[in-house]
Amino acid sequence: MSDTYDLVVIGAGPGGYVAAIRAAQLGLKVACVEKRSALGGTCLNVGCIPSKALLNASEKFSEAEHHLADFGIQVGKPKLDVKALMARKTAIVTGLTDGIAFLFKKHKIDWVQGTAKITAPGKVEVAPDGKGKAQTLSCERILIATGSESTPLPGVEVDEKKIVTSTGALELAKVPGHLIVIGGGVIGLELGSVWKRLGSKVTVVEFLDRIVPGTDADTAKRFQRVLAKQGIEFKLSSKVTGAKASKTGVKLTVEPVKGGDAEEMTADVVLLAIGRRPLTAGLGLEALGVEMDKRGAVLVDADFETNVKGIFAIGDVIPGPMLAHKAEEDGVAAAEIMAGQSGHVDYNLVPGIVYTWPELATVGQTEEQLKEARIEYRKGVFPFSANSRARTVLDTEGQIKILADAKTDKILGAHILGPDAGTLIHEICMAMAFGGSAEDVARMCHGHPTLNEGIKEAALAVDGRPIHM
Ligand SMILES: Cc1cc2nc3c(=O)[nH]c(=O)nc-3n(C[C@H](O)[C@H](O)[C@H](O)COP(=O)(O)OP(=O)(O)OC[C@H]3O[C@@H](n4cnc5c(N)ncnc54)[C@H](O)[C@@H]3O)c2cc1C
Repeated sequence: MSDTYDLVVIGAGPGGYVAAIRAAQLGLKVACVEKRSALGGTCLNVGCIPSKALLNASEKFSEAEHHLADFGIQVGKPKLDVKALMARKTAIVTGLTDGIAFLFKKHKIDWVQGTAKITAPGKVEVAPDGKGKAQTLSCERILIATGSESTPLPGVEVDEKKIVTSTGALELAKVPGHLIVIGGGVIGLELGSVWKRLGSKVTVVEFLDRIVPGTDADTAKRFQRVLAKQGIEFKLSSKVTGAKASKTGVKLTVEPVKGGDAEEMTADVVLLAIGRRPLTAGLGLEALGVEMDKRGAVLVDADFETNVKGIFAIGDVIPGPMLAHKAEEDGVAAAEIMAGQSGHVDYNLVPGIVYTWPELATVGQTEEQLKEARIEYRKGVFPFSANSRARTVLDTEGQIKILADAKTDKILGAHILGPDAGTLIHEICMAMAFGGSAEDVARMCHGHPTLNEGIKEAALAVDGRPIHM
């Protein structure tokens, strides 16, 4: 292993490992420092992948328990084996993280295990956790891809057993009787859904008067109604001011945001999911004078370079949507720029997906954003209840909404609540990436019977001429 590199990447999440691979493909000599014992970052180890493994397993359980009979299939009462379910999740994670190690070998990327600190531009000190002597890597450029961590809440001390972050919620040994989720965002709703389907009573306590902040308000309202129908309880406009864990459970103090009497709630497990914040502690950025914003996100220019020459940053640690695919796109663009090519990521085209059932998927602008920007738009809405494929699979909850510029018809945003919304949204992303109009989508022949026909109908509805409504 050499100590001199063209590029040293700090963090092997979807931002860092993808940047490392792309840079190696372009001929750069790359090392990637990662403090975990496995590659893949938050996403593969304790984020996207294990949560989707549990969502998928719990969906199957819920189908067997509640829905297969609707298709004329009697399977009796399904029995849950939490240990086997967790073992499957772990096997999926290990398979994928090992896959990244294989890709590193294939591209001759050195994985340096340990905690990195930038001591000067071009110098990265790596402390192998616990044992061994620190080594210093020298390089032309440094790429910070250290990601994010769960945001703490004063008065709520996480022990990852009774008061957990998403990491603990992915590891529970048994189904909690009552799970209180603090925060009605993506992570809280996904993991709340997992444990609800597996048998918990789930209550979501949210500070705002709505769930999934930042998404299209009317779609979020419909989403909340659907989740409530599934049995998830919501306590909106409420703030948690304290939580105390004991042997028997957790006591929470909750106050109305607008003022009023505090109330006590009890739970077996509390999931703290109020968001994530950039992770830069211990990197030495303050001493180097690297600029950060109020949230602690590292500020970069259009080339992903910080104010200190030769130090770049990508992914969750910089401003923008905190999503794995955004981090990957950042990584590719940054590597290409470093190799003398041009790279760019359009954050307006980054889809956001909540992998509950039904799924919520969104891209581009919301109605609220368009109104605020005084952009005149037309709206086309099509319900899944009028889509033949949705009816054959008994998944008729939700709708597709397309927003298009009133003058040019260019698609400005789309908000889908429904079956496979996370897959469907990519048809709109593609149209938007090519500057497409609602008419372009409406004129395209769509296979029948497919859920995508709903997109065609919503595009037709923008012009007031859906066929099946
Ligand atoms: C429960 C959960 C579910 C999620 N589901 C989704 C989803 O379905 N889809 C989606 O797009 N996003 C999802 N996310 C978000 C996604 O995980 C992040 O957006 C993504 O991982 C960010 O990638 P990154 O490379 O910027 O950082 P990370 O993946 O956080 O990787 C950063 C890495 O840097 C390492 N590191 C940090 N500091 C140092 C240091 N000083 N030295 C060495 N190594 C260091 C960390 O150990 C970590 O491995 C989810 C997150 C959570 C928590």
